[in-house]
Amino acid sequence: MPESAAAQAAEAPAALNFPFPEVPEAGTVREVANGIFWLRMRLPFALDHINLWLLRDGEHWTAVDTGLSNDETRQNWDRALSAKEIDGCLKRIIVTHYHPDHMGNAGWLTRRFKIPMWTSECEYLSAHTNYNDKAGNTARAVAELFREHGLDVERSAAIDGRGNGYRRIISEPPHQYIRLLDGDEINIGGNAWRVITGYGHAPEHSALYCASLGVLISGDMLLPKISTNVSVWPFEPLGDPLKLFLRSIDRFTELPADTLVLPSHGLPFRGAHDRVTMLRQHHAERLADVRSACESPTCAADLLPILFRRKLDTHQLFFAMGESIAHLHNLWYRAELQFLGHGDDGVRRFVLSR
Ligand SMILES: [Zn+2]
Repeated sequence: MPESAAAQAAEAPAALNFPFPEVPEAGTVREVANGIFWLRMRLPFALDHINLWLLRDGEHWTAVDTGLSNDETRQNWDRALSAKEIDGCLKRIIVTHYHPDHMGNAGWLTRRFKIPMWTSECEYLSAHTNYNDKAGNTARAVAELFREHGLDVERSAAIDGRGNGYRRIISEPPHQYIRLLDGDEINIGGNAWRVITGYGHAPEHSALYCASLGVLISGDMLLPKISTNVSVWPFEPLGDPLKLFLRSIDRFTELPADTLVLPSHGLPFRGAHDRVTMLRQHHAERLADVRSACESPTCAADLLPILFRRKLDTHQLFFAMGESIAHLHNLWYRAELQFLGHGDDGVRRFVLSR
């Protein structure tokens, strides 16, 4: 799913350095490091673009992420692959995670060019469960979870009424894959790229780090302007994804401070350590807001105007509710909040522990 369209921007990355302020035109490529080319595809959301990467791989190319499945994106794939800088064909695709802006064209590309998709096992399986409404991945289950967390009937019905939004914007995911595991090293064009697995945004997200080039392809785990969506979903209704996310981004502070970060949204940047600090602070502030609200019994829906101080459309509400629950659960698991059970109205409420 698109990133924290609903989340507040974790603001003003003054400490970050953006060496490539000009974005490539649709269907064109721009080199950002030796043999690494940047493509940008449009998204029809508040978050209006995704960055994809083409890595020179001997006489061929490895693509990282694929864009949403629609005619415009596919036409831009064709244009990019025929650009004068790209003098060879695709050899494989690596997909950071199953969200539709990342895996949307994986099925189309793998079938068309008869190439493999490399991704983690959880992302491969999550794509199929989402595509096929299995394993608790349904709009109905999301609506029911949000009802339990206090969302009104009308807005819950709007979420239910969207049906399977995933299936509409992704081509059928590939039926086979090559598995990525944390710590794996992939040889791409003579350079070793190490898989850094991250949690909390997607079940087993793969970022890629190349020490010899000093480049991190961060996917959605480290974004320069917006905060990554971290949500509780109905198939794991008692989860604490914020704990997983914060633990995961700490690993980026182990990389050299001047690493060039290639994020899925926003501009390439340097300043990964500072960005991790900002994101930690952002979530600490949101958690402080939740603590204040929970002086009296509070449900996740009560937190929406506190955590997201603007009007939310149904698409944004989908992510905002998940994030509100995630912040409540994080404090609950730290024993700072107490779960009061379901009220007479069936709503789950929390209050500060005494
Ligand atoms: Zn994502």
